[in-house]
Amino acid sequence: MAKKKRTQVRPLSVRPGARYTCFGDGLCCTDIHGLGPLTKKELVQIRRRDPDGAGWDEDFEDRMLFTEPDGGCHFLLPNLYCRIHSEDGPEAKPDGCRRFPLGLVATPEGGRITTHHRCSCRTMGERPVLTAEAALPSLVNAAGRPKADRRVNKVRLERGKKKVAFDEWLEVETEFLDALASGAAPEAVLDAEPFPKLKGSSWEREAEDFIDATDGTSFGVAISTFGEMVRALLDPDHRYRGPGRPWADAFDRAEAREGEDRGEDEVFADWIADEVWGLDFAQTGSWDVCRAELATRLAVGRAVAKHYRETWDLAPGRAAAEALTVVELVGDSEFWEEIEDRIRV
Ligand code: SF4
Repeated sequence: MAKKKRTQVRPLSVRPGARYTCFGDGLCCTDIHGLGPLTKKELVQIRRRDPDGAGWDEDFEDRMLFTEPDGGCHFLLPNLYCRIHSEDGPEAKPDGCRRFPLGLVATPEGGRITTHHRCSCRTMGERPVLTAEAALPSLVNAAGRPKADRRVNKVRLERGKKKVAFDEWLEVETEFLDALASGAAPEAVLDAEPFPKLKGSSWEREAEDFIDATDGTSFGVAISTFGEMVRALLDPDHRYRGPGRPWADAFDRAEAREGEDRGEDEVFADWIADEVWGLDFAQTGSWDVCRAELATRLAVGRAVAKHYRETWDLAPGRAAAEALTVVELVGDSEFWEEIEDRIRV
């Protein structure tokens, strides 16, 4: 049996190649995702500042920040600064706001700093190399110590099989990340077929559920875009009728910054590398299912990027970065958790 090693948050490490700093593009403070959850203490502090700023949200069944009709957080100022941050500094913001798009996973080798890619400051333009020193202030608890989002000490390589020790996983992971970094096509490195069989469902049925989830928020736009594109990919007679891009303004701001377009392959390969580095799949899933679901989201992301390029005349890297907003939001949703449980490889 694989020996269980203790997880730890030190030393902190960043995946080589990860680049990020906050430019204030403003995308993360909107209803592309739920703004929360908040702790009880955070809710009390925020409501003391402004009773209309946060409360119980029936959709999320949790304590959340409220958004305005334009989709922006109640505290998002017209200049795209955070009112709480402007008035009282970054430490006054809820923990989730301070951390995004960063995260921390504790492993037997130390803490891995992770990044979300539904953030134009992470995916577009000239961005500095991310360092542990730069990330650390966003990732500490009230006592100033790094706080892990999750802990992983063993990894299941195949569904239904036992987990292997972290050292054994590292060999698999290193080969995978090296292949991606060498410039090989992400599809070839993943070596998995998109749209695997689903137990008790079909991709057509799931696509309908995605489309039905449209709810007037930017997240609803993302998930229905995904559903429409799945239908179009599976049925050549189906004409893609996806909605618009409510996040376009943030990407316009990102594109106006310095930096050349990164190209589609680089943007997608960078994302796949972080999905693996972040080890989210290792908590409840397996490496074979992870590769199949990533191959599926990559296929949809490529198609959405192509549609954005051709319809709105976007540069390839920008179109890919916007498509990542769609496929990452779907991947982090409860809808996708159910799909991962149904995947048969
Ligand atoms: S509280 Fe501030 S940082 Fe958090 S979502 Fe609202 S505007 Fe953004």
